[in-house]
Amino acid sequence: MNNIPPLNLTRQYEMIGEEVSAAVQDVLTSGGYIGGPIVESFEQQFANYVGIEHGIACNSGTDALYLALRALQVGAGDEVITTPFTFIATAEAIAAVGATPVFVDIDPQSFNLDVTQIEAAITTRTKAIMPVHLFGQAADMTAIMEIAQKRNLVVIEDCAQAVGAEWSGKKVGSIGHIGCFSFYPSKNLGACGDGGAITTKDSAIAASLRILRDHGRSSGYYHEVMGVNSRLDTIQAAILRIKLRYLDQWNNARRKIAERYHQRLEPLPGIVIPQEVAGSHSVWNQYTIRIKEKGQQTNTKASSGTCLRDEVRNQLQQLGIGSAVYYPLPLHLQPVYKDLGYQSGQLPITEQAAHEVLSLPMFPELTVEEQEQVVYALKDCLG
Ligand SMILES: *Cc1c(COP(=O)(O)O)cnc(C)c1O
Repeated sequence: MNNIPPLNLTRQYEMIGEEVSAAVQDVLTSGGYIGGPIVESFEQQFANYVGIEHGIACNSGTDALYLALRALQVGAGDEVITTPFTFIATAEAIAAVGATPVFVDIDPQSFNLDVTQIEAAITTRTKAIMPVHLFGQAADMTAIMEIAQKRNLVVIEDCAQAVGAEWSGKKVGSIGHIGCFSFYPSKNLGACGDGGAITTKDSAIAASLRILRDHGRSSGYYHEVMGVNSRLDTIQAAILRIKLRYLDQWNNARRKIAERYHQRLEPLPGIVIPQEVAGSHSVWNQYTIRIKEKGQQTNTKASSGTCLRDEVRNQLQQLGIGSAVYYPLPLHLQPVYKDLGYQSGQLPITEQAAHEVLSLPMFPELTVEEQEQVVYALKDCLG
């Protein structure tokens, strides 16, 4: 039996390698390596896929979030409500524009923002809500847009893990004021390097994003605002254009794998399988189970020593099964944010999740045999 990694990107490359090599070769021989018609056509195709007017490519998902905040004029003194159970980039972008992240606890089922707790976190300084569609599943965008409209806030969707996911029949990135995507290789639509994109239906915002990502220039060497260098390389756009054609097929394969995991893992004691909540169509960037602590409630000290989940993870590793923990330390307890003054125990649902989550191997090319191997190993570990 072979070892099974949490993610394997070489199988996908083998499948489309010839197409990708030809497209890269075309870019190399063309001599045009930044911008140009290939980037523009990818932007349009990506916007069409999301079902929205404008797509603006940039250098990464982190930059997409940063540029979105800049375009909506969120800055120093402003507060942005977001989830503490996400990759650091979400809060990093908020801090990078000089604003303050305000963390609201999550819903235990979806791992996404608990929308019933958002309103209580709104102050006179709140400018935006930044929901994250974690692990491929949309946050409750109906509730979030209602709150935003009522309280006059903007909504920036962090869609980094959820390209193709839907909420109430609409693709993520087409519901809020701006959608932000990452093409980091491990995302459902991954480049062969860094990449990102921003989506919006607002032409003025789109125009401002295009200026911000290219040194704030309005034309030539005339610079209107303080911008950055955050463009998508032509080579990456050429690769992404090919991969976009396979995205639905790959997302469907992920859904099948998730279904098989559900069937095989649901009966196992001691674990909780992930739920697709009503209204959401998940694209399963991760298949994340919970390993419940035996006996009494999980101790919520996020920085405490090993928990049952860590033991299971080590045992799986010894059986050749890779897994991952997203995320072991919630953002409100990260050293970098200690000045924000959050205490351990303050966001208990998030802190419990940080102790219990375990992401199993998940990628479209994972075989049935390999999945069975994961299931048997897990059964073994849970005794
Ligand atoms: C990956 C990720 C990002 C950042 O994307 P990069 O392209 O790596 O900068 C932001 N938010 C979330 C939730 C992510 O998973």
